[in-house]
Amino acid sequence: MNFDFADLIYDIVADCSDNVPTRYLVNDACVLSGKPLVSASALRMEGQLTVYNYCGGPCYRCLYPVPPPPETVTNCSDGGVLGVVPGIMGCFQALEVLKIASGQGSSCGQQLVMFDALDTRFRSIKLRPKQAGCAVCGENPSVSQLMDYEAFCGSAATDKCRKLNLLSKDQRITVQDYKSIMDNAEPHLLLDVRPPVEVDICHLPFSLNIPLSSLEERKSEHMQLLQERISQLKQQMEGDCRPPVYVICKLGNLSQKAVQVVEKMSGSEVDRITVKDISGGLMAWAKRIDPTFPQY
Ligand SMILES: [Zn+2]
Repeated sequence: MNFDFADLIYDIVADCSDNVPTRYLVNDACVLSGKPLVSASALRMEGQLTVYNYCGGPCYRCLYPVPPPPETVTNCSDGGVLGVVPGIMGCFQALEVLKIASGQGSSCGQQLVMFDALDTRFRSIKLRPKQAGCAVCGENPSVSQLMDYEAFCGSAATDKCRKLNLLSKDQRITVQDYKSIMDNAEPHLLLDVRPPVEVDICHLPFSLNIPLSSLEERKSEHMQLLQERISQLKQQMEGDCRPPVYVICKLGNLSQKAVQVVEKMSGSEVDRITVKDISGGLMAWAKRIDPTFPQY
């Protein structure tokens, strides 16, 4: 990537992006040009704020030398955010920019401020110091110019929702397939793995809500519920076929993870079932099947 740092006429940079490649890109540009980076983020009911590359403090790479696996990253369009939270974090971010610009300085150079909107509480934790072995701000940096950050992170530099592809074709059905399953009243279990707050906004009839996090943690009350519903389904069905479980979420990413989690469950929990993801989730349902279905 060609970039002339002489063109960087800014004194302070504020990162308001919501994806990992851009965070690395902005961090490296700030380190290479010696500018402080006021960084804020928000997800669901939480926000974070820190100033990187400032007064001898760490840079983003000092804290995160290796990008996380793309499928483990949740951004706002995927995980949701209460709109006020980025507003609050944005105001604090602007405050730190103004403090640095006016010479009063920021106290966030080596600390992370965390905002919990649920408890209406701010907490601060001290960050690890600048790392001598950091690839960009360390003693022998291997990064001396900007690079291909999408390749480095294995994901696109976009804040739009990523479409994961974790499952094979035969582990997925389309919303049209599911519509005909519904219309034909074929026995099945519809598992909605979104957080309850989203299920309260809208859901398909007869769905069982078990959030992905509860599946991952094998929460006993939820496991029992799932087992009961599968047992009922087995009783409804004749013959020796494997009862189908279809997993749905908002966009079809969490549901793919949930299919993998359910498939890994031990025999007694979910014995002899077929589990598939509904591709594109409820937003695909709203787009292709039922335009009156709420979109959020
Ligand atoms: Zn660093």
